[in-house]
Amino acid sequence: MKKHNFSAGPCVLPQEVFKKASEAVIELDNSGLSLIEISHRSKAFVDIMEKARALALELLGLEGKGYKALFLQGGASTQFLMVALNLLEKRAGYLNSGAWATKALKEAKIYDDIYEVASSKNANFSYIPKGYDIPENYDYFHCTSNNTISGTQMKAFPDSPVPMVCDMSSDIFSRTIDFSKFGIIYAGAQKNMGPAGTTLVVVKEDILGKVSRKIPSMMDYKIHIDKGSMFNTPPVFAVYTSMLTLEWLKNKGGIAAIEEENEKKARLMYSEIDLNPLFKGFAAKEDRSIMNATFTLENENLKDTFETMLKEANINGVNGHRSVGGYRASMYNALSIDSVKALVEVMSELESKA
Ligand SMILES: *Cc1c(COP(=O)(O)O)cnc(C)c1O
Repeated sequence: MKKHNFSAGPCVLPQEVFKKASEAVIELDNSGLSLIEISHRSKAFVDIMEKARALALELLGLEGKGYKALFLQGGASTQFLMVALNLLEKRAGYLNSGAWATKALKEAKIYDDIYEVASSKNANFSYIPKGYDIPENYDYFHCTSNNTISGTQMKAFPDSPVPMVCDMSSDIFSRTIDFSKFGIIYAGAQKNMGPAGTTLVVVKEDILGKVSRKIPSMMDYKIHIDKGSMFNTPPVFAVYTSMLTLEWLKNKGGIAAIEEENEKKARLMYSEIDLNPLFKGFAAKEDRSIMNATFTLENENLKDTFETMLKEANINGVNGHRSVGGYRASMYNALSIDSVKALVEVMSELESKA
């Protein structure tokens, strides 16, 4: 039986995507060949890549606005250094809102002066820092839209005087944002788009070509753009599966439609956390993520009972990250509201037992 999967990533994808992707591994569109044995230069795969790139821009509302979508490898973690290599000439500003933001900052520091414009480390990243300045002489400003581990999310983005770079790994395609505010958006596929193995990078072309350093080819956005995201063999399965998820999202009505569902799920989850005296939310209320809800169980003696009940209810992946403890319910696009209902039911049942 299919479990309610609250895993933080890799995570749940639409059931129909799992089905179509697995069928394509056996045979792609009556071609007599598997998706993973055809040449990436074949028309069949080039069409898939082009469709995935176009769908990403279309869903983000960035068509015809000077952006290019790339499907690269090396995870979001490679983007931490690739951003710096391509944009950093003298100095950049980073908003340190979580563990992933800290890692992004650390990689960029290898190359040059990096300023932490603000940080919430002192409070274990339980809130989003606000009210900071972004000086005009920075090469770029980097932020993380959703902090997967602590469960906080930026509800507003600054009006940056310099190109804004955003790690949207854990909330891309989940809510409407003016995506044209950003110079670069990147996201590992494995949280809202597909399997691990590819990273969506959306680049505004005119911010490139301004640094004096030599950039290794695999690290150079310009080369990947010129080669149609096929400078080297792309991760064909991850790209195809991501394309299927983007198609699924488009057929559902796009980001605005899924946002409504995501908000419903989050409201249900947080109202249980707030109303049930056994649980306590971790993130500051105004910064709560609609993707990852973090909470603790106040009475440690109930831990085993709660976890047994979760298991019996077929619920998977609500354990919290080791740095925060407690629990984390990740409610990505493909998680149905019925799964949230199942979790909330267990939580309220625990209350009636306690
Ligand atoms: C998961 C995650 C990452 C890391 O992604 P990889 O693809 O494993 O490198 C980076 N940033 C955020 C916000 C994440 O949630």
